[in-house]
Amino acid sequence: MIDKVRRTPCAALVGATMNRMTTTSPDDLLALDALLTDDERDTAKTVRQVLDENVRPHVGQWYLDGTLPARDLALLFGDLGLLGMHLEGYGCAGTTATMYGVACRELEAVDGGIRSLVSVQGSLAMYAIHRFGSQEHKTRWLPEMAAGRAIGCFGLTEPDAGSDPSSMRTRARRDGASDTADWVLDGAKMWITNSPIADVAVVWARTDDGVRGFVVPTDSPGFSAPEIGGKLSLRASVTGQIVLEGVRLPHDAALPGAVGLRGPLSCLTEARFGIIWGATGAIRDSLTVALEYAGARVQFGRPIAGFQLTQAKFADAEAAYVKAVLLALHLGRLKDGAVTGARITPEMVSVGKLDNVRTALEVARSMRTILGGSGITIDYSPLRHATNLETVLTYEGTQEVHQLVVGKALTGLDAFSG
Ligand code: FAD
Repeated sequence: MIDKVRRTPCAALVGATMNRMTTTSPDDLLALDALLTDDERDTAKTVRQVLDENVRPHVGQWYLDGTLPARDLALLFGDLGLLGMHLEGYGCAGTTATMYGVACRELEAVDGGIRSLVSVQGSLAMYAIHRFGSQEHKTRWLPEMAAGRAIGCFGLTEPDAGSDPSSMRTRARRDGASDTADWVLDGAKMWITNSPIADVAVVWARTDDGVRGFVVPTDSPGFSAPEIGGKLSLRASVTGQIVLEGVRLPHDAALPGAVGLRGPLSCLTEARFGIIWGATGAIRDSLTVALEYAGARVQFGRPIAGFQLTQAKFADAEAAYVKAVLLALHLGRLKDGAVTGARITPEMVSVGKLDNVRTALEVARSMRTILGGSGITIDYSPLRHATNLETVLTYEGTQEVHQLVVGKALTGLDAFSG
């Protein structure tokens, strides 16, 4: 709270033995928590506590090792109700979108890879099944996925089709003329979060009727998902390919509610919402870590937090954090139907994804500089956040793609292919 800040004469700051001023947190300075409901605050607190006990102490090592105990984490997050959190029924928690956003902030405050696990499970794989799946798809997969007993992935990107998914080559054809003929899938997907460990993959493929989604058990003959190694970013996350070699599926494996690219694109809009909130977590954690460090690190006879140039970085980071949270919250309230006369649109989500992610990247880099040499080690989170955010800047629509979406909305001119 603001009244915690004690104004101390500058002279009192001189010397390594100075009394530290009482500090205020990035949230408290602008009373950001006051904008949340009691339930939202409680959720944030619970998620933060569980992560602090079970995940934060280990995430640096996972990052270094390039591993993630995804199955254990999925069970933990299932217990917490974080998987498919904003979906209704089938074992999902059915919370508001804002509540889900608040949880994403806590998850990414620990690591973007952890938030990605939850986003891909809930906003991509589960959302696709929940929104477009048959009753059988929903009852077969959603309760297991909500509990974290089954892990899902979402295969849209291909080696030659990233920003332009309409150029996808993965093909699903009927093996026969009737509507009950099997489907046969051939093709390859690239950069798929969780694919090497998934139980079920939502795979998007070209058909004679347009792009359709398929619910593919990963033990289907002809399905493989080799892991992609060598990542310098999002290392505490499992990423792989999906290779489909004559994967035969029953006729009812296709998601009945989605024909055309609008299906997968609407899933991406869902996931981007979580990213917008997650980015605020990376900002908050980077700022918090740098504040702690700068208060204790003494150079030239005083804590580096007392230097004006350091404080300028903090002030800029705080302003960036506040704006990012307000944008996320505005979008959350719009998504929850809590803003009279307005509903969330994909273009609004593009503004949030574009700006919160690039802002988070800038802040994480800036906070890293405050840590000096220590800042390039795994002991401090800002550089880990920054490298993670390089992925976040790229996936779910690159920065440039979102600029084109927003530019099109503002000008009425489509610049995607020109
Ligand atoms: P490209 O599309 O080749 O883009 C390369 C560059 O060209 C970018 O800077 C881009 O902005 C620019 N560019 C492209 N078109 C234009 C244009 N018209 N105007 C201006 N610039 C343009 N995908 C999934 O389907 N599921 C997942 O779970 C998933 N997880 C991922 C996890 C990780 C760690 C990563 C790195 C990616 C993941 N992706 C996933 C893929 C991700 O969504 C794509 O990488 C992203 O869409 C960009 O595609 P691309 O890598 O092929 O780059």
